[in-house]
Amino acid sequence: MGSDFKDLLVEVYKKLLEHFGKQNWWPVDWEYHLRERTNPFDEVVIGAILTQNTSWRNVEKALERLKAKGKLSLVWIEKVTVEVLEELVKPAGFYKQKAQRLKEVAKFIRSTKGGVPRREDLLKVKGIGNETADVILLYGYHRLEFVIDKYTLRWLKRFLGVEWDYLTAKGFFEESLPPNVPVYKEFHALIDELAKNYCKAKKVECKRCPLARDCRFRREGVG
Ligand code: SF4
Repeated sequence: MGSDFKDLLVEVYKKLLEHFGKQNWWPVDWEYHLRERTNPFDEVVIGAILTQNTSWRNVEKALERLKAKGKLSLVWIEKVTVEVLEELVKPAGFYKQKAQRLKEVAKFIRSTKGGVPRREDLLKVKGIGNETADVILLYGYHRLEFVIDKYTLRWLKRFLGVEWDYLTAKGFFEESLPPNVPVYKEFHALIDELAKNYCKAKKVECKRCPLARDCRFRREGVG
């Protein structure tokens, strides 16, 4: 990928930030954690598992149930029975699988004894793929790992006309952007915001999009 595309990516970041403002991802209920003396990091990890194959709205419902009847805590999740956990995370869908995955990841995080896990070790935990591992590393451990999701791949396909897999797209962002954790965090959230508001799966709203001028899809007159 040429340097023109790389320069363009930095421009995209600036335009999205100007248009949507700071997103401050990952969303965490700081008041809850202060009150309950739990660790906000745990909410990032729990949310990263719950968000697999579902909307954030459903994740929020499951998080609310955990807060009301259980705890947003990996220590608690590891101790509670899987049946209780399944019931609480039901709104996030695939609840049996997700309850099991939450327990697996809670056990793994405990085994790290407060250290930062290597990406390849996180990927060995059952149910943790590229996206979940990168969410945990970027938003939980503040490491330089760019997060790709289906929204990012869809946007890349339209904007640059490229059909990349996860790791190719991740490599492109990481080679193009300055090594800056807050930029990685914001950029991922801004692309999701773009995909939810304008660059949608079906009803694409190019006319209102802040990236329309440089977009291949738009230039070719499809949008
Ligand atoms: S101009 Fe249209 S296709 Fe291009 S990024 Fe914006 S919404 Fe997506």
